[in-house]
Amino acid sequence: MDTASFCDSVRDEAGGWDRAGTLPAEVVTTMAGAGFLSADLPVRYGGTARTQAELGELCARLGGVCSALRALATVQGMVAAAVLRWGTPEQRDRWLPGLARGEPVAGFAATEAGAGSDLSAVTSALEVAPGGFRLRGQKLWVTFGQCAGVFLVLAMLDGQPVAVLVEADRPGVEVCPVGGQLGLRAAGLADVRFDGVPVPAENLLAPPGFGLSHVTGTALDHGRYTVAWGCVGMAETCLGLAAGHAARRTQGGVRLSGHQAVRALLGRCLAEAGAARRACAHAAAVRDFAEPDAVVQTVLAKYTAARAASAVSEAAVQIHGAAGCAADSPVGRFFRDARVMRIIEGSDEVAEQHLGDYALRRRT
Ligand SMILES: Cc1cc2nc3c(=O)[nH]c(=O)nc-3n(C[C@H](O)[C@H](O)[C@H](O)COP(=O)(O)OP(=O)(O)OC[C@H]3O[C@@H](n4cnc5c(N)ncnc54)[C@H](O)[C@@H]3O)c2cc1C
Repeated sequence: MDTASFCDSVRDEAGGWDRAGTLPAEVVTTMAGAGFLSADLPVRYGGTARTQAELGELCARLGGVCSALRALATVQGMVAAAVLRWGTPEQRDRWLPGLARGEPVAGFAATEAGAGSDLSAVTSALEVAPGGFRLRGQKLWVTFGQCAGVFLVLAMLDGQPVAVLVEADRPGVEVCPVGGQLGLRAAGLADVRFDGVPVPAENLLAPPGFGLSHVTGTALDHGRYTVAWGCVGMAETCLGLAAGHAARRTQGGVRLSGHQAVRALLGRCLAEAGAARRACAHAAAVRDFAEPDAVVQTVLAKYTAARAASAVSEAAVQIHGAAGCAADSPVGRFFRDARVMRIIEGSDEVAEQHLGDYALRRRT
């Protein structure tokens, strides 16, 4: 199934998924079958080897329908990217074809109660044990944690950051569903507890010391890029819905679009959405050629696009009036989801620090 047909087939379901707090299992199967969960993986691992621009457009289309659909592609892609970049040939052969098929669904488990923006503060601990390791710790806010079959877990081993793949059916893994959060409600979030979980040595990705800067860094970079494009889709959908409503709705004998103030707001939204798309397209180009600026241009794209999605969805709610505040309002759902995008995968403030450092480095 192509992206447009899939999006058209599920567009009217997104509100129901948001209320249910989950995606139906068959949606995961359909997305995997269409190659949406492995878009930029090499063909030899079951992927569809799309360019960064093609991956971006896929995420924009998914994000323009339902943030949880985009989030599924994001998380699966984050874990696959980490395995592809840092796994041994044996680890790639073992994990990547399954991740491409959505079997298992993957979860990225980094955040803890005391470690969010600063992931160097994680306290989850990996200890050496016969045949491998044991893992103890508590992770929070794991997207698709409720249905994940494997988690990429950031932990510490003898004071060094490490990343390990932990199957959800290992003894000592406890999944506690999280629901009712502001946005991304259909993304089946969970807190996950690891209570002395046995982990074989071959599940360690990259050497000790590489877990945060390298493995988690690769995953977050991939996540930021796909979230950025998802935000482009959200902004463009909200702009279209707002313009359509303004053109149809009449008050006091005048169409909303007849008011200069409403047209000006739509104009600002058009500028925001366009700037977000251009920032993401630039990131795509530098990523395809693995240019040295790729990471910072991805941060810039995500920062720009998340703020655009937030601003445009807020304007869309305003233009819809009470209809934008209704329980089943798509623009209301995008407004809630967009606000989350300014916190996850590097908050606005963390991105500003990163971008400010970059500006200082390249001063003339
Ligand atoms: C819907 C949702 C899904 C998520 N999915 C996942 C997931 O799949 N896996 C996962 O591991 N985590 C996930 N998270 C967690 C998310 O990554 C964290 O919320 C995020 O990293 C921010 O951490 P925090 O919430 O602890 O905020 P904090 O780090 O406590 O930050 C709070 C505020 O302080 C600001 N701040 C913090 N440090 C600085 C600084 N140095 N300079 C300036 N300002 C600063 C932040 O910008 C923010 O505004 C998810 C969260 C949500 C809401």
